Amino acid sequence: MKAVVKTEVGYDHMVYQDIPEPEATGDLVKIKIAYSGICGTDIHAFKGSYASTKPPVVLGHEFSGIVTQVGPDVKNVKVGDRVTSETTFATCGHCASCLSKDYNLCSNRKGLGTNVNGSMAQYVLSREESIHKLPDNVSLLSASLTEPLACGVHASIEKGEVKAGDIVCVFGVGAIGQMVAQVCKSQGATVIVAGMNTDTDRFEVALKNGADRAVDQTKEDLSAIIKEMTNGEGVDIAFECSGAVPAANKALEITRRKGKVVQMGVFPEAKEPIWTDLILHKEICYVGSRSQKPSSWRTSIKLLENGTVVPEKIVSMIIPLEKWRDGFESIARGEGIKAVICCNEDLKEHE
Ligand SMILES: [Zn+2]
Ligand SMILES: [Zn+2]
Repeated sequence: MKAVVKTEVGYDHMVYQDIPEPEATGDLVKIKIAYSGICGTDIHAFKGSYASTKPPVVLGHEFSGIVTQVGPDVKNVKVGDRVTSETTFATCGHCASCLSKDYNLCSNRKGLGTNVNGSMAQYVLSREESIHKLPDNVSLLSASLTEPLACGVHASIEKGEVKAGDIVCVFGVGAIGQMVAQVCKSQGATVIVAGMNTDTDRFEVALKNGADRAVDQTKEDLSAIIKEMTNGEGVDIAFECSGAVPAANKALEITRRKGKVVQMGVFPEAKEPIWTDLILHKEICYVGSRSQKPSSWRTSIKLLENGTVVPEKIVSMIIPLEKWRDGFESIARGEGIKAVICCNEDLKEHE
């Protein structure tokens, strides 16, 4: 089968090549991939700056497809099922995080597309526990973005505890910021998205998908706008999805007393100057949100099924597997929001 393989550590070292098709053994499920999204971490892996990537490995962890084979221990998943899958391939199984199914926090977790062959290929193997069957009304294209959606659900609902009537501000309008904005809207919040003058097209997409206000911080005064919208109190929750430290500090500034700031973005350095005075004096809850876990996936599938969140609306480019490099380069240049690879042309749904 064809696959996009990161062959060794360092910059690039990525090739489109033939590798043996995997066989489903034990509790493994073999999936013929329809779509595989290109994630920010895949770009970091390309550049050699993502330590979790252990070459040689097929990249890709955001995908959907059709089951073509199941191992002898698989109980509920069947050949022909339309599915997506969590990115967890294996965990230690006995740490406190594993026991509470916080797999995102298990320090011995092995993930698809980082430690184990991922989805930028014609087929992938995933364990049955990680598989989610798709409701009939959910497109394979939207389903391929269940992983970033689940990251948004984890941040918005599980960590931010957003509820109807909340006013929230999302910093960053890339794929993750867009998912957070859509999930917060689905819960009945008023959503402000904040970015820079390079985000004009992304603001359009956010507004089209329900965001109430977009603020270009190079042209408008975000603090003043939020004061006006919140009677001077500040937002209930701010989400940092840009990876920029000034955004995190702005988030602390515009959040109300006893509000929440949720950090999803990865900052350039491990230790950064964060405005802790505001955390103290406003009793802000500053909380991290790291990827997603099984409960985030179950909620995501429900949101997909009831149609309140439609991830395919953020897809800006679909490319065939052999053209993977075009997608990587385009996303690395900061174009569009989400590039998705079609891994098997016969599973392509529409243009
Ligand atoms: Zn991802
Ligand atoms: Zn564990």
